Amino acid sequence: MAASIHLAREGLRVLCIEADPQETDPVGESLDWSAPGLLEAFDLSMDRLIRDGIATYKRHVILKLRSGAQQDYTPGKWLAEPPFNVELRTIHVDRTLLNRALLEVFLAAGVKLLRDKVVTAKQDRRRIIAVETEGGLEIQSRWYIDASGSAASLFPRLFGLPAFEYGPRKIAMWDYFAVSESIEGTTLNADCEGSHYMSWVWQIPISPNTLSVGYVATGATIKQKRRKGMKSPEIFAEQLQSYSGLRNLLQSPHQISPRTTSFVCKVHAKTSGPNWLVIGESAAMVDPMTSNGVTAALRHAEEASRLIVRSRNREQLPWLSRTLYARRVMDMANFFNDGIEKAIYDWPIRNRIGPLAAGDVYTIPAWSINNIYSRVQPDGVITTFLFTFVLSRLRASLSLFHWFCKRTQPAGAAS
Ligand SMILES: Cc1cc2nc3c(=O)[nH]c(=O)nc-3n(C[C@H](O)[C@H](O)[C@H](O)COP(=O)(O)OP(=O)(O)OC[C@H]3O[C@@H](n4cnc5c(N)ncnc54)[C@H](O)[C@@H]3O)c2cc1C
Repeated sequence: MAASIHLAREGLRVLCIEADPQETDPVGESLDWSAPGLLEAFDLSMDRLIRDGIATYKRHVILKLRSGAQQDYTPGKWLAEPPFNVELRTIHVDRTLLNRALLEVFLAAGVKLLRDKVVTAKQDRRRIIAVETEGGLEIQSRWYIDASGSAASLFPRLFGLPAFEYGPRKIAMWDYFAVSESIEGTTLNADCEGSHYMSWVWQIPISPNTLSVGYVATGATIKQKRRKGMKSPEIFAEQLQSYSGLRNLLQSPHQISPRTTSFVCKVHAKTSGPNWLVIGESAAMVDPMTSNGVTAALRHAEEASRLIVRSRNREQLPWLSRTLYARRVMDMANFFNDGIEKAIYDWPIRNRIGPLAAGDVYTIPAWSINNIYSRVQPDGVITTFLFTFVLSRLRASLSLFHWFCKRTQPAGAAS
């Protein structure tokens, strides 16, 4: 929807093909600090979203451990002062309401919506000639954007694009609870003390009286529980029971029946062609714990449409610009995924410096890079090169630290 709006507002005729009219279980509720600025482009300012009951303020992230230890991660107050002038608040959103508000903007911009599913594309080498739908239509256009999400990853599959995977397949199960009051922050309850891969439970107040609660664990962990005969509601309830701050939710009259999805954090390379671009999770799926998915999708939409608008009188997208686009998409997603995997999910750094300090090892570079990206908006050769260079140095330093922590663990620490 975001890409369609950008393009239509620039005078292009846009057809958006959407396979799921029901919008089944939208996720992406805790937004990072760069998302509100990107939503403003659609007249969905933070103030309006709060006023219309679509969002709540997010002022910090709280990491809570099973042992009861906890830490607040809050952007420093000095960032709000000149010359930085950073907005210290971001938002949690009710995704159903946000999607509805975005749909209004989308229809007002004159985008045509087709409820159908793209099944394949006709190609002439790397060029797309037409897409074919389940409903039997063949649709031809000058430009194509694939925003089909991580489960479909339509163009990456069609073109067999190279991919990097981070961590094992994970399962997320989540549900909504009525609460009498909520805090203005996202709480992450993490099972991360010890030498094991982390699982965690999110608490996101999507409205002052509605709490989204979600459990994320590896597919293997969930499979083991299912083998013991546990069904999704029991697995979910077991997690609520195991964190002192969540136990009271079990008393609510609401019958637990979590939505479930599975995902692998996968980043594609070469996500652009002569007349097509891939955006959002179809291009790169970042781990939900980073809270970067919505920002990345909105950023890709903005950058991809800008590229098409600039090339509207050409035969194809300029090679250099589309290559730089694909590079930025890949390097940012690799940076976020690598950071969260090595500093938080995996055990060596956590065990060495403690989980709460490991939170800083991830948060400080990730939040800074995100903020700088929003400011600099790398686009040309020099800014993209400088950005990707900094990202690769940060990743290399983290890999070295991870390796060092693993090597210097006391004997028997690893399981
Ligand atoms: C469990 C979980 C929790 C998350 N939490 C957060 C969070 O707290 N914060 C955050 O920022 N991000 C989060 N994310 C990520 C966030 O949800 C996504 O990054 C964001 O919604 C953008 O996704 P997208 O638009 O690229 O893809 P999607 O939202 O998956 O949309 C893809 C669309 O394409 C349609 N489609 C698919 N195939 C076809 C086809 N063949 N033809 C036509 N249409 C098709 C689908 O119906 C769908 O509407 C989370 C993700 C998961 C899995």
